[in-house]
Amino acid sequence: MTRVFDEDLETGFATRAIHAGQRPEPLAGAIMTPVYLTSTYVQEGLGQNKGYEYARGKNPTREALERNVAALEGGRHGFAFSSGMGCVDSIMKLFSSGDHIVCGENMYGGIFRLFDKLLGNYGLTFSWVDTRDPQRIADAMTAKTKLVFVETPTNPLMRICDLRAAADVAHRGNALLLVDNTFSSPYFQRPLEFGADMVYHSTTKYLNGHSDMIGGIAILNDDDLAVRLQFILNAAGAVPGPFDSWLALRGTKTLHLRMPRHDANGRQIAGWLAERLGEDKVIYPGLESHPQHALAKTQMSGFGGMISVELGTKEKANEVLSRCRLFSLAESLGGVESLISHPASMTHASVDIARRTQLGITEGMIRLSCGVEDVGDLLADLEHAFHVV
Ligand SMILES: *Cc1c(COP(=O)(O)O)cnc(C)c1O
Repeated sequence: MTRVFDEDLETGFATRAIHAGQRPEPLAGAIMTPVYLTSTYVQEGLGQNKGYEYARGKNPTREALERNVAALEGGRHGFAFSSGMGCVDSIMKLFSSGDHIVCGENMYGGIFRLFDKLLGNYGLTFSWVDTRDPQRIADAMTAKTKLVFVETPTNPLMRICDLRAAADVAHRGNALLLVDNTFSSPYFQRPLEFGADMVYHSTTKYLNGHSDMIGGIAILNDDDLAVRLQFILNAAGAVPGPFDSWLALRGTKTLHLRMPRHDANGRQIAGWLAERLGEDKVIYPGLESHPQHALAKTQMSGFGGMISVELGTKEKANEVLSRCRLFSLAESLGGVESLISHPASMTHASVDIARRTQLGITEGMIRLSCGVEDVGDLLADLEHAFHVV
């Protein structure tokens, strides 16, 4: 008898992380989902197949990842894409020329670039608002608004959006709520439980966790929306390869082991930085000094490893960056290794300077992605790097 993990069974997060979406491979019973390196599937006869026709539409390795992350987010359907941006681009194909989208003003830099420089050319219109205040979302909505799109915590300013309030506002206007959950991962925050209609991730970050692939994934509950997104996925084809899917799936199996360590290291380092530089210079939702700490606690069960620090000038930022040895200077986040970056010239370089300044993404800001190394070693590295400021 084939053992199949019963996804309807009430199980804990760790059990789901390890088992959900996985089925023993039928030929030999391999415990691990194979990397199905195939472009097509042999058909038994005309119109007769095992549910797989061509690998753009479906691949068993990709499917295992989709079912696994869907189970972690508490959603029914998952769709994996070749990158976080490819995922958002495909989601946007659910909408048509003339539709309006309300977005957070402090989204990941690439979202602004995609919407402002590309999708605007296809007749979609966007309003950028401060999603810390649900009233601002409501005020920006029009009869044409089809989607409210928020990120929480935001990158790199760590602003929090009240998910339940945002869902209420969106639904009152007959719009959907889409949430970028990349920074928290489903281990610390599950937006569908707060009323969001769709969640997406850059799987490149915490879900994969080992900085060795690029990918995206969307999770949702509504069956009709799922049919439409599967159609777009197959029609537009921004799908991940089976090996990248397999790497992400290997990553999610240890999400529940990695996240508490990212969180513990993040809290300790944020506390150290706040003491060293002053509370107002350190932005981390886990610090009591964070203006939305109380709200963050109601929808996040931990705060992870992302910390932003204001150093005042680009020169100081540069000095600190260049003195780090364990924290590597690089874009991206969420891997086991610690990274440090300069948002103004790296992740948010595509946002023009006037907008960046207005948002508060200054030239003196650096962003840390605390990995899962020994925290004493990370602190010693920062001690050395911050010696100059
Ligand atoms: C990296 C990132 C993205 C984009 O994902 P890619 O996999 O790089 O295309 C989107 N949102 C957030 C919050 C990210 O950190």
